[in-house]
Amino acid sequence: MVKLAEWRGKELFRKYGIPLPRGQVARTPEEAEALARAGTVPLPCVVKAQVLAGGRGKGGAVRFANTPEEAKTAAAAILGLEFKGEKVREVLLEEKLPIARELYLSITLDRSLRLPIVISSAQGGMEIETVDDTAIERTPVHPFPGLASYEKRRVAHVLGVTGPVAKSLDRLLDSLWTLFNREDAELVEINPLAVVGEGLVALDAKVIIEDDAAFRHPEYADIRDDRTPLEEIAREKEIAFVQLDGNIGVIANGAGLTMATLDVLKEFGGNPGVFLDLGGTDDPKKVTEAFLLMARAKPRAVFLNIFGGVTRCDTVARGLVEAMKQVPDAERFPLVARIRGNNEKEGVEILRAAGITSIPTLKDSAQAVIAAAGGAA
Ligand code: GDP
Ligand code: MN
Repeated sequence: MVKLAEWRGKELFRKYGIPLPRGQVARTPEEAEALARAGTVPLPCVVKAQVLAGGRGKGGAVRFANTPEEAKTAAAAILGLEFKGEKVREVLLEEKLPIARELYLSITLDRSLRLPIVISSAQGGMEIETVDDTAIERTPVHPFPGLASYEKRRVAHVLGVTGPVAKSLDRLLDSLWTLFNREDAELVEINPLAVVGEGLVALDAKVIIEDDAAFRHPEYADIRDDRTPLEEIAREKEIAFVQLDGNIGVIANGAGLTMATLDVLKEFGGNPGVFLDLGGTDDPKKVTEAFLLMARAKPRAVFLNIFGGVTRCDTVARGLVEAMKQVPDAERFPLVARIRGNNEKEGVEILRAAGITSIPTLKDSAQAVIAAAGGAA
């Protein structure tokens, strides 16, 4: 998926006529100061970190400034941050508007209904995940006719807006709907959507573009998505590799077995983190590469769970033994193996010669690796 930074999302909002505060992006504190001094961004202003993670408001990544000097100080403080693991390289400066109320509005795809839905709540400004479910309204929309008048009135009712603000909402919903469809979005979110005077203004923008439509959007070719540096290397080597928060590394073959292995580890109280799908390969070098990549992720222990088919057990064993010779000391990890299937005997023998025992059952091997990683949670 292509997650757009707030300022890019807002460029799309502007294109579709969604009301925004006046603002501009700065990449240095001096630039921020100059924007404020020239009046390009009216004062007082808001200075916001342009990172993909949410919760910036609470996390000190949104600040206010009354003078050009304060804009510079705020920008300097934010540009120096590493926010939730992401280095801040840009700030968005915007006029600070007098907010009467903060609302929540988004359009996304509901995969179980297989329909777009409008999500609305009168409790905007905080992350929607923390809002009580009874305060959230979900309105499924038929994709062909789009939003009907009665559906828009329903949203207005939920948001508690009437008169000219409701009129503003009506137009805004049409714009947001058109944007969602024309730009191949899987999510468009405005949080907060602020009531300012007699109208509505989008103070934040979160837009995610569908991966499958990426070919229609060369304009996003340069945007990196949220891959970690190791995931980036894996992608170049065409290795399916995902880094999560746990401490057990999983190497399996095939998406099904990989997912099932994660489930079993969880079931026994383990905490799988990095996982790597060897897929179908008969090249021990590819296996070695995969192991070396896994080692760089520094898991507490690694679980090798292979069902030999196209990927034969002896191929995996050979690749593994070669990798073990190459892994630097600092990246060594305890390893539990379970290799079954095609050429199992040869594979098990190669591992045994290298001092690694293959544990035949899933339960025993899963529990062994959990113990090696420091025990169940
Ligand atoms: P997030 O926390 O990462 O979602 O960042 P937001 O863009 O939603 O900003 C967080 C909060 O900053 C908002 O909920 C507002 O309360 C406040 N904020 C942002 N822009 C303005 C503004 O123009 N005026 C005022 N008064 N507050 C703002
Ligand atoms: Mn927000």
